[in-house]
Amino acid sequence: MSNKVSVQVAVNVPLSMTFTYLADKPLPIGCRVRVPFRGGEQTGVVVDDQQSADVPAHKLKHVESCLDEIPPLPADFLELIRFTAQYYRHPIGQALFAALPGPLRRPQPARWPDERGWQLTLAAHDTEGPPPRQKARHALWHALAEPLAYQQAKAITPQAPALLKQWLAEGLVERVDAEPPLVVAEGPTLNDEQAAAVEAVAGSFGSFAPWLLNGITGSGKTEVYLRLIERVLAAGQQVLVLVPEINLTPQLVERFARRFPATPLAALHSGLADGERLAGWLAAWRGSAGIVIGTRLAAFTPLARVGLIIVDEEHDGSFKQQDELRYHARDLAVWRARQAGVPIVLGSATPSLESVANVEAGRYRELSLTRRAHGAAALPTVRLIDIRRQKLLDGLAEPAIAALRKRVERKELSLVYVNRRGYAPVIACTECGWLSGCPHCSSRLVWHVTDRRLHCHHCGYHEAPPRACPDCGNSDLKPMGQGTQRIEEALIALLPGARVLRIDRDTVGRKDAWEAIYRKVHGGEVDVLIGTQMLAKGHDFPALSLVLVLNADGGLYSADFRASERLFAQLSQVAGRAGRADTPGEVLVQTQWPEHPLYQALVAHDVAGFAAQQLAERREAGFPPAAFQVAVRADARTLEEASAFLDAAAALAEPPEGVTLAGPAPALMMRLANRERAHLLVESPQRVRLHTFLDDWLPRLAGLQQAHRQVRWSIDVDPQDF
Ligand code: ADP
Ligand code: ZN
Ligand code: ZN
Repeated sequence: MSNKVSVQVAVNVPLSMTFTYLADKPLPIGCRVRVPFRGGEQTGVVVDDQQSADVPAHKLKHVESCLDEIPPLPADFLELIRFTAQYYRHPIGQALFAALPGPLRRPQPARWPDERGWQLTLAAHDTEGPPPRQKARHALWHALAEPLAYQQAKAITPQAPALLKQWLAEGLVERVDAEPPLVVAEGPTLNDEQAAAVEAVAGSFGSFAPWLLNGITGSGKTEVYLRLIERVLAAGQQVLVLVPEINLTPQLVERFARRFPATPLAALHSGLADGERLAGWLAAWRGSAGIVIGTRLAAFTPLARVGLIIVDEEHDGSFKQQDELRYHARDLAVWRARQAGVPIVLGSATPSLESVANVEAGRYRELSLTRRAHGAAALPTVRLIDIRRQKLLDGLAEPAIAALRKRVERKELSLVYVNRRGYAPVIACTECGWLSGCPHCSSRLVWHVTDRRLHCHHCGYHEAPPRACPDCGNSDLKPMGQGTQRIEEALIALLPGARVLRIDRDTVGRKDAWEAIYRKVHGGEVDVLIGTQMLAKGHDFPALSLVLVLNADGGLYSADFRASERLFAQLSQVAGRAGRADTPGEVLVQTQWPEHPLYQALVAHDVAGFAAQQLAERREAGFPPAAFQVAVRADARTLEEASAFLDAAAALAEPPEGVTLAGPAPALMMRLANRERAHLLVESPQRVRLHTFLDDWLPRLAGLQQAHRQVRWSIDVDPQDF
């Protein structure tokens, strides 16, 4: 026993501990191993070499040598995982394995991919090569006079993989080690604001500096990223770019690849096959990929020589993972920038209130792009259609129909944007605008059909709905924001001859569906697009002449305190699709609340004003970012079971001053997959206090499961949805 060593191994199991094994020789921290586990076999990662005192050595199982030909996982990666597991209160092994690409989760060896390039052999130079009429072959052949990376070859012709294989077999090309040159395609001349932003960020290279790049849609934020990337690549470093899932389109990746045609680029997203993702991940880790661009999971990619991190559309909700390991990729990216000592740029046209508050507090520095970059492109005119004084035809007001008709006649493209977010219904008075509010906290009460009562989703209070408006006596009280149905049929009937294309989850389900939609739209085969949230994002549509927004009101007075922030971001984004260089676009919003500050800010393009107003409201109510929250979520067959668990959990809490518990309250989406869901909220104006309390309280909850076997529960730190 004496010359054995013990190691601590993290395994992919729902336990917050690591496991002790014996090895014949010391194993480096970060190396993957195959371990016997509960009668089976598991992949493990050595995370420590300390002997844990409580297990006698003779009871320990053995672990063989490291699995891989690749080196052990780097220390900064393991440190990130440790922080993530600790902060988001997730088992270390599960956090670690969630961050690894699929093939590395299995107990099979991995090796570096062959990243050498291709070049013509001496023998090849003596041959004629393919004739010019074989265009693709000819072009590839001539490009191969210099070393060519796989990606460059594929950019020349999709037949490249087959041709390279054939020519390799024929001795016409050979594999070569080649440092890819930095080739930069020309971009536009930066305007003053862009140039100032680039200089400011570049001035902070080499140290941690968080920047908020606040720029209206089309102001040239992406161009600023590209210039910064150019400088980082020139310094021999890497850039990590995080984008929301829906924005990582082939168009965006192409834009990066076109600017830096010789730079290896790894695009990491959930749609990749296992092998592709592993190759990209390893290229990022090894440092051979100069640009790593990906969705939230890419926040965990190890980077050998990172020089800059960029988070585009930093306000986007998709950066928060909503199950299992509930991390926020933007927040982790900021942590990583600090860890690596590099600047981070958070870009948005509608920054999150968290980031705005960080600017106010002096933690982030703000850079503004206030003008559209492209020529004389003006901001769209936003007009509100007050539907309280309009007769609606299938949900559409007469001025809206007339505006659509005009665009169809002029052969201009319109978008009808139907807000489909499932807002929980708040009761409102149709006469005076009274809204059902909670007497105990700053939340709205939500109408539940099941028990015909109004519920507070923050503190759990509930009451019978009033028979008449408490303010004006009107008896016509209605749930707000009811859906707009059958808009497509209505439009087809109202606009005879118009070519209408509906885009929703059903029509874009298939992978190539977007491509087909782009072809139609760019080919001028569409007059009116109808779509939901997914159309708001950075898709590459031609400029729209008109945007008509329907059904947005539901987001104004929601029980979810983030609803108006999200609604404003979405409407700003769709509005940003309107207009081209020569003619400004028009945005029409149908609403019952034209005087609402959100719409007034939209009309005035006053993003900062809206953020300031929202921040003031949040501070008043004690909601994030003025406070920090942790949700304990529970679901069971009945709400009573879930609530009983949360009550028992609350009973074990001894919150110190400055930490409060609210609830249990039903979740906004109370019923999901035949389970009823509820939550308990822990809140504090100070993050440290909140987490110190969790350190003490959460371990006590482990014993509760025994008495509540049917309840599933989880912790959500910095929750985004309720
Ligand atoms: P954003 O990311 O803020 O939406 P982009 O960087 O995509 O903006 O720029 C919008 C459009 O303006 C793009 O077509 C881009 O090529 C162009 N553009 C950006 N900067 C400039 C500039 N300085 N001069 C001319 N065109 C520009
Ligand atoms: Zn009233
Ligand atoms: Zn309440």
